[in-house]
Amino acid sequence: MSDCLFCRMVDGEIPADVVLSTDRVLAFRDINPQAPTHVLVIPKEHHRNLGALAAADGELLAEVARAAHAVALQEGLVTDGGIEPGYRVVTNTGPQAGQSVDHLHLHVLGGRGLGWPPG
Ligand code: 5GP
Ligand code: ZN
Repeated sequence: MSDCLFCRMVDGEIPADVVLSTDRVLAFRDINPQAPTHVLVIPKEHHRNLGALAAADGELLAEVARAAHAVALQEGLVTDGGIEPGYRVVTNTGPQAGQSVDHLHLHVLGGRGLGWPPG
């Protein structure tokens, strides 16, 4: 989709600070980080939100989830087989949740204590 910001990043038209890239998944640093680690993990194919990807391609959704964990490992937020210090994965769907880009993205957040409940 040529008018989608994240599709344009996948196509290399807009620069991205990439931390992980596979055949089907891209992970890059958020331009406005909310924590010391704030990485967005997306399918390279356009899907508008979590429900849409889950319905269309469960295996790709699993790949996105694996990539989110791989990023957390890479960033030192967990260790192989360990869960310390930890990280959070968030995905927003719709305006009330604050979704501003209609291409599914998992936020991987960590590197500080994260409050609960979220805002
Ligand atoms: P949402 O609000 O849809 O859950 O998350 C969209 C995220 O995309 C926001 O955290 C925002 O900072 C990030 N973002 C928006 N534009 C850009 C951009 O051009 N580059 C990068 N790396 N992140 C962006
Ligand atoms: Zn897109």
